[in-house]
Amino acid sequence: MTGSHIDTQPTGGKFDGNYGVLAGLEVFKTLNDAGVTTAAPLEVVVWTNEEGSRFVPVMMGSGAFIGEFKTDFILAQKDRDGITVGQALHSIGYAGKDQVSPSGIGAYFEAHIEQGPVLEAHDLTIGVVTGALGQRWFDVVITGSEAHAGPTPMSLRHDALLAASHIVQLINELALDHAPNARGTVGMLDVYPNSRNVIPGSVKLSVDLRADSDATLTAMVNKLNARAQEIAKQGKVSIALTQVVYFPPAAFANELVQAVRSGARTIGLSEMDVVSGAGHDAVYMARVAPTAMIFVPCKDGISHNEIEDAKSEHLEAGCNVLMHAMLACASQP
Ligand SMILES: [Zn+2]
Repeated sequence: MTGSHIDTQPTGGKFDGNYGVLAGLEVFKTLNDAGVTTAAPLEVVVWTNEEGSRFVPVMMGSGAFIGEFKTDFILAQKDRDGITVGQALHSIGYAGKDQVSPSGIGAYFEAHIEQGPVLEAHDLTIGVVTGALGQRWFDVVITGSEAHAGPTPMSLRHDALLAASHIVQLINELALDHAPNARGTVGMLDVYPNSRNVIPGSVKLSVDLRADSDATLTAMVNKLNARAQEIAKQGKVSIALTQVVYFPPAAFANELVQAVRSGARTIGLSEMDVVSGAGHDAVYMARVAPTAMIFVPCKDGISHNEIEDAKSEHLEAGCNVLMHAMLACASQP
């Protein structure tokens, strides 16, 4: 099986997702043109609502397919206008009756633009994706107390934003400690009362930690917890951390990763091993079937933006690697 998603972000480009579906169709067209018959059947899949921009949760179609979500739960999810997934499917004539089952899939491949800058920076054509980073997201609430910026001496403050600045530094260090495959991001900061001459009394911030193994993620979180308590003590504030998202790291199947690598080498394409920092339908599929992904470079590593672009020779190269990898796996019934 191969495929990807064709939904997008409100400001999405034309490659994220679509490329993986079209790559699969191109492979099949080529095999048909050449009169090639495989021992195992090949399928293209189009996943619904991977991005989660109209309906949550994200990766909805593949999640339902592998049993992560119950079908009834998914069909009942509403968009901002109160329209359910079930109603939306009905209105476009796509509300099928068949029960889906993830059993019997021998291999799943997904071709995708990289959505990052690594391949372009190395001037390479193919990313052999060895797995996807695990993710742990936290909401952090720092509580100090508001006070006047003038009369309150530095030694008597409970400055929540000062403590937050140490957390921001810490998150960056946690990822650098586990380079090159760990990530740490504080992307959201709410400061209260956010006034020029008031010492901030509370701050809410987001923490997004990613790594290629659960052991690394755990080490990062342990250090975060321990250091947060020290920062709280030094800053005379309290810090509460709540985990809001956990995706385990997904290691892709060795033999499929190898099929992608040899596919690239067979046709003389430059390649390197990469990990996926983003979520993909392949991450869910990896739980029920041997899975691998193929990345091709995109211009300036930019995605989720209408200027998203990719070179046709790279897109073609990805299709060729996909074809070789699929053929290698489909030679057995
Ligand atoms: Zn995508």
